[in-house]
Amino acid sequence: MKLRLILGDQLNPLHSWFAQRDSEVVYALFESREELTYAPHHRQKMLAFLHGMQRFAEWLRAEGHSVEHWTLDEPRQRGSLRANLEALKTEWEARTGQTVAVEYQEPDEYRLDQALSGIGQCVPSEHFLTERDGVRRHFASKKTYLMESFYRVMRVKWNVLLDTSGQPEGGTWNFDAENRSSWDPAQQVPREWRAHHDLRELDARLDRHGIPRWGESAAADFPWPSDRPEALDVLDHFVEHALALFGRYQDSLAEGQDFLFHSRISFALNTKMLHPLDAVRAAETAWRRAPERYPLPAVEGFIRQVLGWREYVRGIYWDQMPSYAERNFFGHDRPLPPWMYTGQTRMRCMQVAVDQSLRTAYAHHIQRLMVVGNFALLAGLDPRELDTWYLGIYIDALEWVELPNTRGMSQFADGGIVGTKPYVSSGAYLNKQGNHCASCPYSVHEKVGPNACPFNSLYWHFYARNRPQLERNPRVGMVYRTWDKMKPDHREALLEQAESNLQSINNL
Ligand SMILES: Cc1cc2nc3c(=O)[nH]c(=O)nc-3n(C[C@H](O)[C@H](O)[C@H](O)COP(=O)(O)OP(=O)(O)OC[C@H]3O[C@@H](n4cnc5c(N)ncnc54)[C@H](O)[C@@H]3O)c2cc1C
Repeated sequence: MKLRLILGDQLNPLHSWFAQRDSEVVYALFESREELTYAPHHRQKMLAFLHGMQRFAEWLRAEGHSVEHWTLDEPRQRGSLRANLEALKTEWEARTGQTVAVEYQEPDEYRLDQALSGIGQCVPSEHFLTERDGVRRHFASKKTYLMESFYRVMRVKWNVLLDTSGQPEGGTWNFDAENRSSWDPAQQVPREWRAHHDLRELDARLDRHGIPRWGESAAADFPWPSDRPEALDVLDHFVEHALALFGRYQDSLAEGQDFLFHSRISFALNTKMLHPLDAVRAAETAWRRAPERYPLPAVEGFIRQVLGWREYVRGIYWDQMPSYAERNFFGHDRPLPPWMYTGQTRMRCMQVAVDQSLRTAYAHHIQRLMVVGNFALLAGLDPRELDTWYLGIYIDALEWVELPNTRGMSQFADGGIVGTKPYVSSGAYLNKQGNHCASCPYSVHEKVGPNACPFNSLYWHFYARNRPQLERNPRVGMVYRTWDKMKPDHREALLEQAESNLQSINNL
């Protein structure tokens, strides 16, 4: 007999485990208190994972497999994955008189890898396009972890956007320079893809068991996909309606627009309802069939995110864990202001990003990086607390992808593994990329004074206070030259303004 564990982020019906029915195999899915509470999760995130598991258990049964799906209501519950698995193994051994072997798919998170270690045979999850140690091997002989070099190898390995002689289509590997326009408020955005699931019963179960959570539940009309057919539908919708303008508005920020031209496939990918090649091939096929409709920079830009960044950050995670979770290059330790949990700040860009995250469990990349992450880094927020925030609030947040993005890309807390310089900006960049500043009570054009945009003075405060760590970075030398050229009283005024902002951070 075999007992096979399926984790909440392993909802992949294409896994070879399921290719044939076997009366000697039982599949186990557990709602576990430990998993639901290791970080304070957004209501929609919890519902989306539990609903996906429920649908997966139904699918397995319909395919003729034997399934044990323990909800929180299950009397045999032991509260943790490992304890549940051990209890079920003992039960099946008593019931059948046979030894029961446990199998599980390679977990993506270090925490679960440790928790399940030694419990049985670990098999590949058949999802990623590189091995766990693929990034470590790729960069073994290199001085820096440049994503671009890894990405090119992945393009060749998977034969993506290559011409018949093996060269990159369009004559270049990366069209980033042609992407990333400012937002045009006259631009129509695609209608939103959404499912319509009634998850009130599931939500009530979480209430009954006192599982703490935050954000809007949307349980009565739940919008996120629950299985592979719905996930493929999200991807089709994106290719049909948004891919062509994905690149152009990739870095835009827009009033009243939650999703712009982003795909919203991260939840489906991270739960493995979608395979990364589904997304890569769908975009490439669209371009090959209709190049006049799908600009190559948009298609290449999208493919780079999935084939490049996603695989790269996973490799960084497995290369650097567990010490990566302790990295704090700047020694930042300021607690998160309470408005990070309510959205009640006057800074319009932050208000929109946090409010939207609470409402939808989603923010697009530039909101996560250049709005929330930018502010956090400028203000010196504690990266550990920030990780917990990011890990809790987003529908797609799993530590293997959240941590390298937060500690690495966004907070530079790894000292420059993922990024070569900190991603920070003053208000000018935010104003250029979108239209939040127009309705903000702070003035993006003022640097000091009660109405000055806090990003402006905090930007200089960040560079001034971290000069010893950053001065020798060749990519930031220019910043210090500009700072040194400023009149001393102007520098003084900027630092005083920033100090005042930091003192009243809870009321910004
Ligand atoms: C501070 C911070 C935290 C983040 N936390 C997460 C997280 O917990 N989970 C997560 O999946 N992504 C995370 N990201 C990466 C990225 O912001 C999200 O993948 C993206 O916003 C999801 O929306 P989308 O599906 O519409 O993506 P799109 O913009 O449409 O991009 C397509 C896909 O590319 C992949 N992708 C794009 N950028 C990245 C990236 N930097 N790292 C990994 N994959 C990427 C995702 O799978 C995404 O679905 C984070 C980024 C930052 C800056």
